[in-house]
Amino acid sequence: MSKIAVYPGSFDPITMGHVDIINRMSPLYDQVIVLVAESSQKSALFTLEERKVLIEKSLSHLKNVKVDFFKGLTTDYMKKHNAQVIVRGLRAVVDFEYEMTMANMNKKIAPEIETLLVFASPEYYYISSRGVKELAFNGGALTDLVPDVVIDAMAKKLKK
Ligand code: ADP
Repeated sequence: MSKIAVYPGSFDPITMGHVDIINRMSPLYDQVIVLVAESSQKSALFTLEERKVLIEKSLSHLKNVKVDFFKGLTTDYMKKHNAQVIVRGLRAVVDFEYEMTMANMNKKIAPEIETLLVFASPEYYYISSRGVKELAFNGGALTDLVPDVVIDAMAKKLKK
């Protein structure tokens, strides 16, 4: 049985923090699926399709990574694709409670699926999609915070 991990998130847009987590997970699994999810709580800057393309371009160096988007429960997507592990990144303590609640909820609805929490690398732990957008809206430089394709895409969005 091939080992498949799913890394779900909003990725609005993908940052170097996300790229780092995926780079580190890729050698551990046969396949890593980055699952772009619609968030009911957050209004998005990029469409699901735009986010998917930006992730694909940022991860073209990884051959076992696939990008997809889905509008339902992550666990339903995983059952359909025979994926066993949900990967989530942990930055500061503030992430912990939300991630623990999600992991327990997912364990309740799909006991066969495990959640793996991965610590953010020290050089990226402060990066968030929200922070990146805030910075861009106020004219700050995004160098080293997001992949180059995202810098270009942000610039185009802000011109509109
Ligand atoms: P969500 O809206 O589902 O939290 P995000 O796109 O904000 O989606 O994040 C997806 C996952 O990546 C989450 O588990 C989040 O904690 C993690 N993550 C976000 N930024 C970083 C980072 N800089 N380093 C490590 N993990 C991160």
